[in-house]
Amino acid sequence: MSVHTKQFKITVLPGDGIGPEVVSVGERVLRELAGRFSLALRIDRGLIGRTALDHCGEPFPKETLAKVLDSDAVLLGAVGGAQAGETDFGLRPEAGLLALRKSLDLYANLRPVKILPSLTGSSPLKPEIVEGTDLLVVRELVGGLYYGEPRGRERTASGEERATNTMVYTTREIERVARRAFSLARQRRRQVVSVDKANVLEVSLLWRETVDRIREEFPEVALAHQYVDNCAMQLVRDPRQFDVILTENLFGDILSDEAAVLAGSIGMLPSASLGNGGALYEPVHGSAPDIAGKDRANPLATLLSVAMMFRFSFSLPGAADMLEQAIARTLERGYRTMDISAPGSRLVGTSEMGNRVLEDLEVLVQSGPR
Ligand code: NAD
Repeated sequence: MSVHTKQFKITVLPGDGIGPEVVSVGERVLRELAGRFSLALRIDRGLIGRTALDHCGEPFPKETLAKVLDSDAVLLGAVGGAQAGETDFGLRPEAGLLALRKSLDLYANLRPVKILPSLTGSSPLKPEIVEGTDLLVVRELVGGLYYGEPRGRERTASGEERATNTMVYTTREIERVARRAFSLARQRRRQVVSVDKANVLEVSLLWRETVDRIREEFPEVALAHQYVDNCAMQLVRDPRQFDVILTENLFGDILSDEAAVLAGSIGMLPSASLGNGGALYEPVHGSAPDIAGKDRANPLATLLSVAMMFRFSFSLPGAADMLEQAIARTLERGYRTMDISAPGSRLVGTSEMGNRVLEDLEVLVQSGPR
């Protein structure tokens, strides 16, 4: 079944909170599906986030950096769990994630939001609004406000405190993520909405002008612009209007969490972060300390991220489709974790959900390619 003779190196970073629980299911399914497609994997593990801070005093240790730089793909759970008094942002768990993204120069973060028919009832929005939603947020991931300098806090001459963050983008940073979004749109419904705040921010003006210019390389793709405040409203008013949403780091962070409402739970949203070499696959959600260790986390966002790994890093779209179909079947059979449960559904824990998806994968493998 496989087309590869190469062995792929994967680094698994379970991270914090529910990270290890969902990643353990993800790794099981990754191994199973790779086996089915005769794909040779070498899987290593590393520390990141709170777990890394507790073990070695830094959120992204050098050993982890060396491993991810030597990998074809990284599978991450989640990081989180800053403690009271940890005010140095460079030494908080989340700094590990920012450093990971930056070290691999993962400038394009892909967050698909596709509503499965069996889950339209799980959204707090009316089914007629969410059904049929199939959109992709392409978020710039290594620039903007989260990385811009200067940043920091200082005391002014009058004794007040002053804090600064800087939203900054260069033309090159906008061009490369815009090209990625237009290329992806070409394989979908060929529509890009670029989101900015060009009525207020100089950065957004440069963003808009640059996106307009890159669009000329993709004449078959339609482009529209929306202000971020309008987009936030449109996403819950009429999400079906969107195919690809292209936006900068902060806006993309917020809009894609908002889009989680469409899917019923953030536990359903996967992501892939791509650069020009390595790639990172992770669920959109965080470490969810409120449910960590209780076998209540939904592992499907992680499994959908594994499907994206097969599509983008292994160039095996057939395997990716098969895993996505297996997940859809499991949900159609009524299995639900707590976050997406509905009256009459069959409530299962994290690991049990993994078992059910593996069952459906087996059924699909037995029934052969479709
Ligand atoms: P969160 O995503 O961890 O949790 C938000 C809510 O969604 C919680 O009620 C949680 O129980 C629920 N939830 C999240 N994932 C779920 C899943 N798989 N199944 C079922 N329910 C799920 O966001 P938060 O509470 O704002 O942040 C918690 C920590 O995670 C913070 O330290 C934050 O900085 C960090 N964080 C990390 C990432 C990341 O690693 N990519 C992303 C967001 C937040």
